Amino acid sequence: MLRTNNCGELNLAHVGNKVTLAGWVQKTRNKGFMIWVDLRDRYGITQIIFDEERTDKETLEMAQNLGREFVIQIEGTVIERESKNPNMPTGAIEILAESFKILNASKTPPFTIENETDGGEELRMQYRYLDIRRNPVRENLIFRSKVSLAIRNYLSSYNFIDVETPYLIKSTPEGARDFVVPSRMNAGEFYALPQSPQTFKQLLMVGGMDQYFQIVKCFRDEDLRADRQPEFTQIDCEMTFVEQEDILARFEGLLIHLLKEIKGVEVSDFPRMTYAEAMQKYGNDKPDIRFGMEFAELTDLAKGKGFPVFDQQELIVGIAVPGAATYTRKQIDALIDWVKRPQIGANGLIWVKCNEDGSFKSSVDKFYSQEDLQAWAASTQASAGDLILVMGGEVNKTRTQLSALRMELAEQLGLRDPEVFAPLWVVDFPLLEWDEESKRFHAMHHPFTAPKPEQMKLLATDPGAVNANAYDLVLNGNEIGGGSIRIHDAAVQETMFDLLGFTKEEAQAQFGFLMEAFQYGAPPHGGIALGLDRLVAILGGQETIRDFIAFPKNNSGRDLMINAPASIAATQLDELNLVLKPTS
Ligand code: ASP
Repeated sequence: MLRTNNCGELNLAHVGNKVTLAGWVQKTRNKGFMIWVDLRDRYGITQIIFDEERTDKETLEMAQNLGREFVIQIEGTVIERESKNPNMPTGAIEILAESFKILNASKTPPFTIENETDGGEELRMQYRYLDIRRNPVRENLIFRSKVSLAIRNYLSSYNFIDVETPYLIKSTPEGARDFVVPSRMNAGEFYALPQSPQTFKQLLMVGGMDQYFQIVKCFRDEDLRADRQPEFTQIDCEMTFVEQEDILARFEGLLIHLLKEIKGVEVSDFPRMTYAEAMQKYGNDKPDIRFGMEFAELTDLAKGKGFPVFDQQELIVGIAVPGAATYTRKQIDALIDWVKRPQIGANGLIWVKCNEDGSFKSSVDKFYSQEDLQAWAASTQASAGDLILVMGGEVNKTRTQLSALRMELAEQLGLRDPEVFAPLWVVDFPLLEWDEESKRFHAMHHPFTAPKPEQMKLLATDPGAVNANAYDLVLNGNEIGGGSIRIHDAAVQETMFDLLGFTKEEAQAQFGFLMEAFQYGAPPHGGIALGLDRLVAILGGQETIRDFIAFPKNNSGRDLMINAPASIAATQLDELNLVLKPTS
């Protein structure tokens, strides 16, 4: 070893020890006759001291030329510091240097390697290896490793087996767009990178593996929204001989275990909410229930009172914003402008102030009496001092808009405390979703999800009304996992493909292997996949998943460090039998 100790572990108990440390020069302070060097490694920082009286001349001179981020190895003795730094684990000691070696010099880094750096996002991504030297990034990666380990331990303790599934698979039309890989040996043919190991994990169940998990990369070629990565990591799981309840219990247990182990937070008995209820109460299938402001439907109360705007609406819905009756005209106008932005697209916002004296003041006083407004307040559960905000319009659109406003207000009011954890299950998702554009059904979850057994008959008559044994695990307004009980019967799977608009031939060509497998004693099974990147970010109390990925891609899907994607040589194209379309 090039060191006897790391830079984070020496303290007063080691005074007098001869030690060798290795690390990076964080900073130097040079008074000529005395030089201090902060030496850094993954474990911490230790102060090194060189001085005229105790260090030989040559070593002192060499130390004078040390630059930031030089890699050095130093030998010396642990001594007690005169002025101690109680904020550092090693703050009571320093190393009196006797000799040192420069293991490697460094160019001046393009940004400061400090907690608060002067480097912009792009520059930091380009030099990600330097960024990783900074405490916050390093700590996030260590944190991620800790979460992964806790997950593995939990799942292993319940007999889950880690099985790797292939990355070079076949493209399928369902779901997002695939990343494809040309095959050199099979001219004109392509592999696809998996969007998830879904069919493989099901085949492992047919293979009798019983309980499977994998912490696995998945790939989706989607238009990148903020904080999405084209490659991301899932905790992918599948279980045999289970019902929905068994899966919910096991994975509720996983999150309880993680919150306790990683955060020291105790949670129990996650609430359950049906998809329909989540949409009605929160306008959202991943509600943040750390705070209230639940939706109240005011359609019946608000229509027919002579307010023409509301009279034509399909849905009128409101929320009570706690303590916001004191909002000024300007503050309310800002909210109205906010919902009118194209990203939200609302026409406007009606407000009612619940005054402390029990009276109401609203933007629609001309149309609604105090009694009318009282009824709105009762419905939204508004108290004196609250502000009721009301929107009207087409059902789904209005719910989505009010949901966005609810989240924005919660942000403004500081109700989204990252140290509070409010998990829940959203269950009973519809099996299918009608797509107006293609005029056909899409699988709401994926084509392998089983209809609720008691609704099987409805499949033939009213498929849109069928619910699935599908569930999402939601944490603080984020979907952190989703799964379902699967179809394990070849005939049902065939019906499903038919409903999704596949011809028999297409279904056979795409998924023949699965339907075939179902004819060899496929057991009942189900599973779930959790997004590791997001889960880690939430547990870490942060918003951006990029901060928890060692080498993330930017918002245009580029890796700025290695500069990918990139063109390939003509010879490579040739080998792959690819011809590029000329770019005009
Ligand atoms: N494969 C699914 C997904 O990636 C999860 C599951 O159903 O287990 O969303």
